[in-house]
Amino acid sequence: MISFNKPTVTGNELPYLKQVLASEKLSGDGEFGVRCHRLLEQKLGAKKVLLTPSGTAALEMAALLTGIKPGDEVIMPSYTFVSTANAFVLRGATIVFVDIRPDTLNIDETLIEAAITPKTKAIVPVHYAGVACEMDAIMAIAERHRLWVIEDAAHAVFADYKGRALGTIGHFGCFSFHETKNYSCGEGGALIINDADFILRAEIIREKGTNRSQFFRGQADKYTWLDIGSSFLPSELQAAFLYAHLEMADQIEADRLNSWHYYFEQLLGLAHAKKLTLPTIPHDCRQNAHLFYVKTEDRIEREALIAYMLEREIQAVFHYIPLHSSIMGLQHGRFAGNDVYTTSESERILRLPLYYQIAQADLDEVIGAITQFYA
Ligand SMILES: *Cc1c(COP(=O)(O)O)cnc(C)c1O
Repeated sequence: MISFNKPTVTGNELPYLKQVLASEKLSGDGEFGVRCHRLLEQKLGAKKVLLTPSGTAALEMAALLTGIKPGDEVIMPSYTFVSTANAFVLRGATIVFVDIRPDTLNIDETLIEAAITPKTKAIVPVHYAGVACEMDAIMAIAERHRLWVIEDAAHAVFADYKGRALGTIGHFGCFSFHETKNYSCGEGGALIINDADFILRAEIIREKGTNRSQFFRGQADKYTWLDIGSSFLPSELQAAFLYAHLEMADQIEADRLNSWHYYFEQLLGLAHAKKLTLPTIPHDCRQNAHLFYVKTEDRIEREALIAYMLEREIQAVFHYIPLHSSIMGLQHGRFAGNDVYTTSESERILRLPLYYQIAQADLDEVIGAITQFYA
């Protein structure tokens, strides 16, 4: 079976975990935590990065930091993972879903302004597949209406928009280091803080509402409970595992990009013959090969292609069921404007096997199966 995903292994995971055991400090923000923070801040050009136990937790921290409260509205695409919405629903917000663009599957920036009401507090662009949303337009809208922008950059670690790292453009950015993402520690994430005024409060919220971080830096003479918060600090074991990937990020990304471009080139003939549609990468975006998808004609053709591939022991999978049509989405959200592309595009997407060091022979087998299917 050619599986859709395999966790990244670089070889440094175990040596680093042994180092943590020897150090006798397993709780968070130890030597590896600090190394991850430094590496991420330097590579992204970010003011402050804080590791979190998951991408979900990073989104929840952003929802707390922006002070989202019951009655507020938060704008986002419906074509996304549940955590994008859940983080704000937990604070009592109503989610306002806006349609996506058919080319990038990202929120259609031209439809955002019409969805804004006096209750709107934030926009949450999701950089699907590590391809940037139109951030210049989104930031301009946010400025005009004084809204927060929280980038869900779970897919988009080390991808760029006009030379700027995704996650560093909005007020906050959220990364995921889940097993299925480009760099991982099984479950993990990071919050990127782009407004220095929020660093102190972020540290407090992350440490259960206490000033523990400042106290241990000698910047507070009393360790006390100051604010609401939760346990948003991953252990040193997670940080050590993650560091083994982050330090090899360029190599991991180059390998994934090679596989991505191979799929693209080998399937271009089918795209020209109008059998299927390939992803669009706008000129001003540098993507990170987080995932490779094709779009079939419709849902029926996709089901047939999935079955055809499974018979040949290839696991290809679809993606998000639009949130606005889910039980929770119906209860806590509404769709602004018309669903022209969200549902129809979500029914066409098929993601192909792609992971670090996927074998050339496996890529050829996947390409061969798709080519035969359309022959
Ligand atoms: C993976 C993902 C998340 C959440 O990440 P976890 O680390 O699994 O909590 C959020 N948003 C999107 C778009 C994702 O793909």
